Amino acid sequence: MKHQIFPSYCSCFNICRVSVTMIEKMELLDVDKLIEEFESMTKDAGNVQRETLKKILEENGCAEYLQNLGLNGRTDPESFKACVPLVTHNDLQPYIQQIVDGSSSPILTGKPITTISLSSGTTQGKPKFVPFNDELMETTLQIYRTSYAFRTREFPIENGKALQLIYSSKQSKTKGGLIAGTATTNVFRNSQFKNTMKAMQSQCCSPDEVIFGPDFHQSLYCHLLCGLIFREEIQFISSTFSHSIVHAFRTFEQVWEELCADIREGVLTSRITFPSVRSAMAKLLKPNPELADLIHKKCLGLNNWYGLIPELFPNVKYIYGIMTGSMEPYLKKLRHYARDLPLISADYGSSEGWIGANVNPYVPPELATYVVLPNIGYFEFIPLKENVEEAKPVGLTEVKVGEEYEVIITNFAGLYRYRLGDVVKVTGFHNLSPELKFICRRNLMLTINIDKNTEKDLQLAVEAASKLNTEERLEVLDFSSHVDLSTNPGHYVIFWEISGEVRDEVLEECCNCLDRSFVDAGYVSSRKINAIGPLELRVVQRGTFQKILDHYVGLGAALSQFKTPRCVGSTNNEVLQILCNNVVKNYFSTAF
Ligand code: AMP
Repeated sequence: MKHQIFPSYCSCFNICRVSVTMIEKMELLDVDKLIEEFESMTKDAGNVQRETLKKILEENGCAEYLQNLGLNGRTDPESFKACVPLVTHNDLQPYIQQIVDGSSSPILTGKPITTISLSSGTTQGKPKFVPFNDELMETTLQIYRTSYAFRTREFPIENGKALQLIYSSKQSKTKGGLIAGTATTNVFRNSQFKNTMKAMQSQCCSPDEVIFGPDFHQSLYCHLLCGLIFREEIQFISSTFSHSIVHAFRTFEQVWEELCADIREGVLTSRITFPSVRSAMAKLLKPNPELADLIHKKCLGLNNWYGLIPELFPNVKYIYGIMTGSMEPYLKKLRHYARDLPLISADYGSSEGWIGANVNPYVPPELATYVVLPNIGYFEFIPLKENVEEAKPVGLTEVKVGEEYEVIITNFAGLYRYRLGDVVKVTGFHNLSPELKFICRRNLMLTINIDKNTEKDLQLAVEAASKLNTEERLEVLDFSSHVDLSTNPGHYVIFWEISGEVRDEVLEECCNCLDRSFVDAGYVSSRKINAIGPLELRVVQRGTFQKILDHYVGLGAALSQFKTPRCVGSTNNEVLQILCNNVVKNYFSTAF
């Protein structure tokens, strides 16, 4: 079959028409065709990138931003790189603000932007505004379909339901009348989302009222209840980021008896107060004492909730959600709940646009990589080996295996040469398109002196320290860090929320282990001469990280996109206060 490079980018109008009619006519997606399209596109990655850039610049050449940069209609990568500067979100903020305020002139895009995404903002402390449009919606669906095709070839599912732990935050109107919501909210609320889920046999078992419910605590409870009601039909369990899955089953441990009572009586607990959610749930809930007894018995039979998921959902084939990067620390708990069920990491992207699909679903999440889809944006990569200020970005097909890069995105929604701030490593190529391993956020850095420790270094240190004492049943439920410069010299502070009773001697040893685990030469040498003070481990009360989550949800973030901030700067005062106000014990390292 002759591959079409741009099946989806004819024009916005055509995109909607083609996709909808396709899905209406077609019950299920044609997996072989999707894979074939992906293969031929990645075999021609270089040309597809050039064509994609051309398309983006043709569609948006009249935007003021591009007009002022003197491209004069040129659409080739060389002219693009010569005229258009690399930017961060801060650089684009004034342009985005004009759009948010309702300016009718073409500022960043040819066609007006009508929707704004709020990125999770967990790194900066407050959500960022990012333009969203039909093209971004279509690329989202394209990536969903691509990874689904590879996933379903490996792990076929039957026609059933999915327990999708997804939550939509409120959509609001900006001053200028644009719709604003988190990127996931903008996706879930788009009618094409449901159609695509249907075509992917991945329909959510919960009614819309639950997904779009105004309170995520209530939605979570109802998601679990719907999952139990449809337990035999559930084919897989998913969420955007896997934190939501772990969070849901931790909640299950607290509320399982209440869930059983609801199923037994066929009456929803009074803790669910929103009428729309109550009436939607009333349609599903019928008294079912047998099911309640069965779940009750299964829960009592479990040892520390090991294997909870396959016990509750006997036909589940896998667990699916983003499991790499800041989600890796939850894998241990997820495996505990999932027993031997496959864990499959979902794709790699951001509110700014999608980047790559997981086309090797059988690979464990720790090794998961993402193949860049060359037609969903124009990608460049800043090599991190060299001095960053001078390093020249390279194109998609020019990256080298084994090297680390910062990702630069040019998308269909007004971002040109935008530094995403993510660090990835090229692990290989799928045809001519690189396979990326997510390493960390670039700006999440613990640094005081000449030391540089990233989110990944922190994660490895926490992993090492929490392994020290399995016999004590120490479980690090969540963690974060802070550079405390109020002491002289400054020092690293690591916050831990733990479960179980852990002796002081053990935590002292954990603290020393954390300090020793930052092996960066700058840190070790600074510690030796006391240019950096002893690392401090602060243990916070149970529920502290839930308060942080609530804080972000209160700011408009959605649980679906939540990522625990792994390094809290002094400017993120509110989160720092939540952490500091909940400290129950602290320890200073004696490792050096
Ligand atoms: P958001 O700010 O909510 O749009 O989240 C986007 C960010 O989440 C990305 O820039 C990454 O840092 C992170 N992210 C997204 N997908 C993945 C993935 N598959 N693995 C690791 N991190 C990811």
